[in-house]
Amino acid sequence: MNEIEQYIRVIQDFPKEGVLFKDIATLLQNPKAMQLCKKQLIDLVGDQKIDKVIGIESRGFFFGTLLAAHFNAGFIPVRKPGKLPYKTISELYDLEYGTDAVEIHIDAIKKGERVLIHDDVLATGGTANAVCKLVERLGGEIVQCNFIIQLDFLNGKEKLKNYTIASALQY
Ligand code: AMP
Repeated sequence: MNEIEQYIRVIQDFPKEGVLFKDIATLLQNPKAMQLCKKQLIDLVGDQKIDKVIGIESRGFFFGTLLAAHFNAGFIPVRKPGKLPYKTISELYDLEYGTDAVEIHIDAIKKGERVLIHDDVLATGGTANAVCKLVERLGGEIVQCNFIIQLDFLNGKEKLKNYTIASALQY
């Protein structure tokens, strides 16, 4: 068993019925768990060169900044519509009902930069796939999509089949 699993709280039916929510707040509360998780995420990347780390709003920000500091890379927030103050590009993606969008500042990534994308959970892959498209539109090269938790039964891997994905925990 992966030691970090015990620090993740599981909440039934949040934010809606049928969802088993993986809550990393309990992991973040614990300094030992934080260090363990940080090390595992770093090990997933190995010695690959990284220029920018993207953290996906909002739970991708926590370890995203730690990863950026470790790899001596810049940190880039990707956010929900209307949150970023400067010029942005956005990418729509499908939800179960309707659509959502993610945005990035137009000057966040330079052509040819090597980008690591990080979020807490990979579920259907819709969000991470939209983020990959934003990076590609800015000319970035995606090195890896990196997650704490991968929910295999939701098939996010299939949606991200053109990219390398890596996760500390898989369900
Ligand atoms: P998706 O686009 O379906 O891959 O969903 C990914 C986003 O939703 C991530 O930013 C996660 O933080 C969040 N998410 C989806 N499912 C869960 C879950 N079961 N537990 C915690 N977060 C989730």
